[in-house]
Amino acid sequence: MREIFPFIGHKEGELFIEGVRAEEIAREVGTPLYVYSRKAIEEAYREIEEAFKEVNPLIAFAVKSNSNVHVLKLLKELGAGADTVSAGEIYRAITAGIEPKKILFAGVGKREEEIEFALDRGILMFNVESEGELYKIEEVAKRLGKVAPIAVRVNPEVDPKTHPYIATGLKSSKFGVDFGTALKMYERAKESKYLKPVGIHFHIGSQITDISVFSQAAQKVKELVKELGSRGIEIEYFDAGGGLGINYRPDEKPVSAGELARALIPHVKELKCRLILEPGRRIVGNAGVLITELLYRKETPEKLFYIVDAGMNDLARPSLYKAYHHIEAVRGGEKKVKATIVGPICESGDLFGEGRELPEMKEGELLAIFSAGAYGFTMASNYNSRPRPAEVLVEGDSFRVIRQRETLADLISREF
Ligand SMILES: *Cc1c(COP(=O)(O)O)cnc(C)c1O
Repeated sequence: MREIFPFIGHKEGELFIEGVRAEEIAREVGTPLYVYSRKAIEEAYREIEEAFKEVNPLIAFAVKSNSNVHVLKLLKELGAGADTVSAGEIYRAITAGIEPKKILFAGVGKREEEIEFALDRGILMFNVESEGELYKIEEVAKRLGKVAPIAVRVNPEVDPKTHPYIATGLKSSKFGVDFGTALKMYERAKESKYLKPVGIHFHIGSQITDISVFSQAAQKVKELVKELGSRGIEIEYFDAGGGLGINYRPDEKPVSAGELARALIPHVKELKCRLILEPGRRIVGNAGVLITELLYRKETPEKLFYIVDAGMNDLARPSLYKAYHHIEAVRGGEKKVKATIVGPICESGDLFGEGRELPEMKEGELLAIFSAGAYGFTMASNYNSRPRPAEVLVEGDSFRVIRQRETLADLISREF
């Protein structure tokens, strides 16, 4: 196979995901369709595990990147925990068999019912994002007669040099708190019978490719942990968040997990803390493709449009972040045209790629949009009343549907 991304590539002019032809899956399941490679997910997970094995971290998969229960199950088998941001994600993680003691609960707007749900299940810790939330967690814990394990999410104030929508560690951000507020919150938690400070958390952004940003942040947070120690507050978990970037272009190399390990390990060793990582994109991003059918070729005086059956409701990243996703024909061939690939949605932003080199294609043929395993299906919506696509997991020479395509009846089922 001529790999485009690991375990996905062309063989004798046909796109394969591991040992299965993309076309075979599409003919059986229909399009648009998300397809994930089990081996690619496993390999990406193991790369991180291997790089950090010296400190045996908890790898808490960021469920928001891909929350399919079968994907979570496979990660659970690899030993992963879960980083969640809602009761829904906790519910998914537990359904997949992930032990509550490996589940983290983050997010700036946790509702009372969600806090109760998490406390009842006995999760590892709450990553607390404001003083108000700390009081709310205390109140709920008191009502339930429980002790809530907490970490404060702090803002190390480093610039992650990524898209502003996914930069989260800056002073101006809605996430986390400044160090002064964090100290106050830890003091408060220490005094409370219903709160137990167990960790510290930072997550500076997503799709980060400059490792020095992680070093700077870890350095700053380490100093804060020392300060807490001097005040008699012992931190057990050093949660360095997610954010490790991937290569969206097949000809670029991703930043290595080893480099991230070298940036983080010395700090956690010095502190004698257990490291927690929250990778999402890095594990599933390049393990998924969105398969879509060419509905119409439309030639205008300026452009050749390939109008496909996937839209921004199925894969939002290009329209939301102007994100680049590599696109290829499922049947390979000489790249003779420059086509602009657009979806059927009634928005000009419904655009997957501008002037891409592709083969001459006929209506009814298939295209693959790469790096769609993270923030793909999880961000899909029913905009334009389009049923959300199916999801398929390829395992060696076989594949199975892990989420059925929605039906028209599904669209209105809650309206009666
Ligand atoms: C989104 C998010 C992650 C995962 O980010 P990736 O870039 O997918 O690794 C991890 N932790 C928190 C708190 C997040 O919000």
